[in-house]
Amino acid sequence: MVQVVLASRNLHKLEEIRRMRPDIHWLAMPPELPDPPETGDTFVENALQKATFVYQATGLPCLADDSGLEVDFLGGRPGVHSKRFSEEGTDTANNAKLLSALSGQAQRSARYRCVLALVAPGGQSTVAGSCEGEIGEGGRGSGGFGYDPLFFATATPGKTVAELTAAEKDAISHRGAAMARLDELFVAVGVGVQPSEATFGDTVPDVSGRA
Ligand code: IMP
Repeated sequence: MVQVVLASRNLHKLEEIRRMRPDIHWLAMPPELPDPPETGDTFVENALQKATFVYQATGLPCLADDSGLEVDFLGGRPGVHSKRFSEEGTDTANNAKLLSALSGQAQRSARYRCVLALVAPGGQSTVAGSCEGEIGEGGRGSGGFGYDPLFFATATPGKTVAELTAAEKDAISHRGAAMARLDELFVAVGVGVQPSEATFGDTVPDVSGRA
């Protein structure tokens, strides 16, 4: 089985990636490793930065996800700063800030973007996915994470992403679109079907049963 380290500690991302490709043996980041840096101006830069950092520490193939929300009325913000759009950096505070920034605005178009970077002994490569939609007037639903309670994907009208099932979200999401191209990354960097020797790290915890 192919073994890949996930260069993230975001349990929601880990859960989504894991459930979309259960055929891969996903390894957690070594616990002693600090959070990877993400100081770039683009999703591609940040995804490569995170995957490279963890690859250099482990020597194993590493996958990183850098993602976020681009809101047209805000000139593409919060973009790469989606996680820390508000001062508090919590989903609740981020969503409240976004609703306030769009208060009274008719132009509410937005998109999620996701870039996946794979760094391995054979090189590095990235793929991207996006999901078009618009920002609602208030929060709805309890699934997903981040801005999902506010985001109506064009492909699933009438429901926020937080009101979709996991399978429905994966079928239309930016992360789902990028993950559909994961095998392209494996081919590009020469990660094959031969199992590599992992000597550390727990497997990513299965949190799919969480409420
Ligand atoms: P990153 O960890 O720097 O890639 O930041 C990702 C941030 O983008 C998250 O903390 C969320 O605010 C937002 N985000 C990315 N993907 C999603 C998603 O699938 N749903 C909702 N928000 C997301």
